[in-house]
Amino acid sequence: MKDTKGTALKTSKSEQAGRLKQIEEEALREIVSKVAGKSAAELVPILKDKGHVDEFKIAGKAKITINELRNILYKLHHHDLVSSIRKKDNKKGWFIYFWSLNVERAIRSLIREYSKEFESQTSLLDSRTKKNYYICPKGHTELSEESSLEQNFECIECGELLVLKDREIEQRKINKTIDTIQERVNLLRELVHKYEAANKIAFEKDIIKVAKEKKEARAAAKKVRVRVAKREEAKLARVKAKAKAKRGERKAHKKGMKR
Ligand SMILES: [Zn+2]
Repeated sequence: MKDTKGTALKTSKSEQAGRLKQIEEEALREIVSKVAGKSAAELVPILKDKGHVDEFKIAGKAKITINELRNILYKLHHHDLVSSIRKKDNKKGWFIYFWSLNVERAIRSLIREYSKEFESQTSLLDSRTKKNYYICPKGHTELSEESSLEQNFECIECGELLVLKDREIEQRKINKTIDTIQERVNLLRELVHKYEAANKIAFEKDIIKVAKEKKEARAAAKKVRVRVAKREEAKLARVKAKAKAKRGERKAHKKGMKR
């Protein structure tokens, strides 16, 4: 009984992880293509979870020229979505750039984009709730009441009489858009929570590591102190022994003189 339950729980956990991975990849494709064009989305699976990747390898996998790739990468870099490190190629003597995707920053940036969209849809809803709009039945134009009045409620394109736009239909449409944005942002926030949890674990591991290093350093310093003290003690013992031997010699010498 317990086993079955345990296994079921495990599956759902890995399913959950898989679902988040998929959301993440889609979101990354979305923000990357927003910033650098649709073709840039192809770089996501090449860069994601791969650390820093050699730019020539990226260009090869994406089947684009190195210059095309650099153009995309510079755009992404401008928005802080990728970072690079360079390493000197010892054989050829020039520098090679390695690029990685800033996943967390990219997701946060997409959330900001959606938040802007949310704001603009909310203010649109507000204006569409308060004001009347008129449209051409043939779909040429859409005007506020004031502008329609100036045009004598006639379409500039075809002269057709403008009709009052159905507020309810439009509000429903905007509300639907707002709901979709909200759902999207909630999913993306799930990802951010995942990163925050991972960052916290990494941070705690770091603290433990630093504490361990400090302890080791203290132990090493103590060892050195003990060694130095022992050496000093031995030195002192040697000096004392020498002095004693000298005193002995002098005594013997004095005895010899007396004789
Ligand atoms: Zn018209």
